[in-house]
Amino acid sequence: MQIKIHRGINQIGGCITEIKSKKARILIDVGTNLPNCERNVKVNVSKISKKCDAVFISHYHLDHLGEYMEVKKEVPIYIGEQAKEVFTIYQKRMKEPKIAEVTQAHIDRVKKFKTFKSDVSIEIGDIKITPIRVDHSAFDSYMFLIESDKKKILHTGDFRTHGPLGKELPNILEQIGKVDALICEHTTLSRLDETFVSELELQEKAINLIQSSKYIFIMCASTNIDRIASFYHANKKAGTKLFICDDYQKDILDYITETSKKYKGYYDFSEVKSFDSGLYKDMVTKGFCMLVRSNYFSKKFIQSPNFKKNIFIYSQWLGYLEGNNADDSIAKFVPKDYVYLHTSGHATAKGITEVCHIVKPDVIIPIHGENSHDFDKLNLPYKIKHLKNQKTFNI
Ligand SMILES: [Zn+2]
Ligand SMILES: [Zn+2]
Repeated sequence: MQIKIHRGINQIGGCITEIKSKKARILIDVGTNLPNCERNVKVNVSKISKKCDAVFISHYHLDHLGEYMEVKKEVPIYIGEQAKEVFTIYQKRMKEPKIAEVTQAHIDRVKKFKTFKSDVSIEIGDIKITPIRVDHSAFDSYMFLIESDKKKILHTGDFRTHGPLGKELPNILEQIGKVDALICEHTTLSRLDETFVSELELQEKAINLIQSSKYIFIMCASTNIDRIASFYHANKKAGTKLFICDDYQKDILDYITETSKKYKGYYDFSEVKSFDSGLYKDMVTKGFCMLVRSNYFSKKFIQSPNFKKNIFIYSQWLGYLEGNNADDSIAKFVPKDYVYLHTSGHATAKGITEVCHIVKPDVIIPIHGENSHDFDKLNLPYKIKHLKNQKTFNI
C-alpha cells in the first residue's frame, strides 16, 4: 500500500491522509487548518478526491472534516452514525442565526454521508477498513485499521487513553496485534511539561467545586459529550442542584441519551433541563449547574444579582483565552476569576507509548503534532518515518 499525508505533518489539525492499494484509493479525514495555523500547506481537496473511492472521517472536529464540501459529489463520505447526527445539530445551530458560514447546502451534503459502526468492516475495492471507537473530546470518534494485500495500517485519528472509553483501547488493539505502519497523532508531545488528569479525576474535582457554591456556570464545548457527562455525574453526586442548558445543547444531549443505552446510563442525560422561565424559582432556591457559551443568553444569568455568589468553571483549552489562538468572543466572555478545570482530549506520552508497544509497528508516521521529531523523545524501539507533506511512502 501507499501512504500519502497530504497535510497534517508538523502541524496540529488540517489532516488529510491518502491510502492507495492496487485497486482502490481512499482518503482519511479532510480537515481544515485550525485558525491561526502558522503553516500554510495548501491541498486541493476537489482535485485529490477525483476518482477517489471513499472518504472516511475519524470525527466531527473541523480540523478533520472541514473540507467535506470540496470532496467530489460522487465520492461517498463515511462517518460514525452518532457523529453525523451531532454534527448536523451543530450545523443547524450555526446556520440560524448565522453564526458561521453554514448554508442549507452544507446540511444537505452531510445528510448524504454514509455511516459506519465500530468493529464492522467496510470493503472498498481490495481495501478492508475497520473503524475502532476511541475516546476523544468529540463523541463517536474512531481509529481506522486499513488492510490490503496482507498489510495492516493503523490510523489513530485523534484519541486518548485517559477518558472513560480509553481504558478499553489496549484490549481492542491486542486483538489487532502487530501492524506494518502506525499513523499516529502526537498533539501533546510538544507539551511534555503539561499535566493530565483522567476524566474520572476531573469528575471528582468537579464534585468539590459544585459543593462549594450554590450557582455554578460551566463553559465547555457543546460537542464534548464526555466532559458534559463528567459535570452531570459530578452534580448528581454533589447534591440536588438542577443541571441546566439551552435548547440547542438539550437537543444534542437528548439525541445522545436516546442512542447510547448500551453504555449503561453513563450517557443518560434525561435529568438535564433546558431553561424556561418556570424553572427560575427552583434555580434560585435549589441552586444549579448551567452550561454556558459566549452569548447574551448566558450572560444574563451570570450577571443576574440573584446569582451573584457563583463560580464560573472554564473547561476547555486555555489557548482560547490568550495568545495566538485566542478567541475574542470567549476571551471577553469569561470572567477574570474563573476556575480552570480541564484535561486534554489527546493521548499523553504514556498513552501513545502504550499503543505503540501493543501494535509494534514496523514504522511510525507521526501526524497531528507541532514537530514530528517530538516523537523521537519517546525513545521507542520502532522506526519513525518523518514524512514530508504530500510525499508518498510505500509499505
Ligand atoms: Zn484534531
Ligand atoms: Zn479532534
